Amino acid sequence: MTPETKPDAGQSLPAISVYNTLSRSIEPLTTRVPGQVGLYVCGMTVYDYCHIGHARAMMAFDVVVRHLRHRGYVVRFVRNHTDVDDKIIARAKERGTPPLELSSMFIRALEEDLSGLGIGAPDFTPKVSEHIGDIVTLIGELMSKGHGYRAENGDVYFAVESSPEYGKLSGKRIGDQRAGERVAVDTAKRHPCDFALWKAWTGDDAEPRWPSPWGEGRPGWHIECSAMARHHLGETFDVHGGGIDLIFPHHENEIAQSECGNGKPYAAYWMHNGHLTLQDDSGDSVKMSKSLGNIMRIRDILAEVPGEALRLMFVESHYRSPLPYSSDRLTSALVALDRLYCAKETAFGSSGDAAPPTMGEPGLEAWETATAFQERFTAAMDNDFNTAEAMGHVFDLVRCVNRLGNDRGARTKAGAILAPARSAFDLIATVLGIGAMSPAEFFDEVKTKRLLAQGRSVDEIDAKIAARGAARASRDWAEADRLRTELDADNIVVMDGAAGSTWRMRVGE
Ligand SMILES: [Zn+2]
Repeated sequence: MTPETKPDAGQSLPAISVYNTLSRSIEPLTTRVPGQVGLYVCGMTVYDYCHIGHARAMMAFDVVVRHLRHRGYVVRFVRNHTDVDDKIIARAKERGTPPLELSSMFIRALEEDLSGLGIGAPDFTPKVSEHIGDIVTLIGELMSKGHGYRAENGDVYFAVESSPEYGKLSGKRIGDQRAGERVAVDTAKRHPCDFALWKAWTGDDAEPRWPSPWGEGRPGWHIECSAMARHHLGETFDVHGGGIDLIFPHHENEIAQSECGNGKPYAAYWMHNGHLTLQDDSGDSVKMSKSLGNIMRIRDILAEVPGEALRLMFVESHYRSPLPYSSDRLTSALVALDRLYCAKETAFGSSGDAAPPTMGEPGLEAWETATAFQERFTAAMDNDFNTAEAMGHVFDLVRCVNRLGNDRGARTKAGAILAPARSAFDLIATVLGIGAMSPAEFFDEVKTKRLLAQGRSVDEIDAKIAARGAARASRDWAEADRLRTELDADNIVVMDGAAGSTWRMRVGE
């Protein structure tokens, strides 16, 4: 990159480092305007419900944005919706729905799913259908500079051979592509890597179409991101993100279009999240596909577990690592989240001003771990958003607080010792979006969702708990024990207190 994209203004900002796919190395984050980050992330093609693979990409950048904001950066976050696309047209035809109606419906579904995962809305969510003017303008600029051509079939293509730096992101050389080409897939193109900027209308009324200097038609896929990023972030901006599968050809093509069209560098940093793969019972990777019937939709998972369980599962891995998904892994994440909320309940539910080492070694350990937490956690996150390492510190904290919580005196004595732990839980909620509920809300959500998944209800359990209470009151110990055994077998944990009995779902079994 030229110095123009990375001004070396002595920033008094936190030293955050980022793995840049473009340089294949970890670099200090230096933004065009100190303290401000322009971020563009490729969004979804909205023709179906989102699955956990999509959720991983959305989560990765949600955490990036949360951490940057926490560290004082002003982030201008743009994530698009691809609402004009061949897949959308095909699905709309199948259903007999206008394509833009279908995509609007799935945008609403996507927003619901992401909100269920605690993923905040970007500052801008541009849609292709609302940026046709920007797209046509950019294609016109590319044509006038000799980077595009209109083929015999009426489509307009980008000529990759006109872009000397084509391949710099992916490392692919277009010469290799030509050598490896066995058959000319599309004779309309001059080079097999050339890609459509504008697709001519075929005359099918089911296709959405707009006027352009090259006739009626619709944009090719890649051009939309170049046009929408320029509209919202300018010709040159800081960070571009997306899934690793988008490096080639999508991001390579975006760079070519934008840098040839604008005559300026495009994004300075390219961040890519790793794939999510499904694992079967024997631990082998399987492809998630409709034909195998194993698509894990976000909404189906959210019906069974709180969204934070999925968040926790995602952040246990670094965003660049591949993430093998299995239901066991999700269950483990739910168990870990349950422990975190038990610790949070102890930290926020305790009073008293005992100072360490009054409460012995567990008190001292909890106090020391919580006191050191912020620095350790932040250092991990500053280092290319290393959530895997950050979660190691979270688990240390949770373990120490729960250990202290086993002490019956913790509730009335450990308030001061656990003050740094309370700050730590607030930090975790802000940056990772985990532990953001009150413990009572979390335990209630687990109850409702787990019971519903088993075809039972909270009312049914409440009635059984009440029956046990009545049996105890009438000293019918045999009946009370029988009910307790039954509840225990159903993973209901009963806690008897002065104000009566409460209960929770035991997770993980
Ligand atoms: Zn894109």
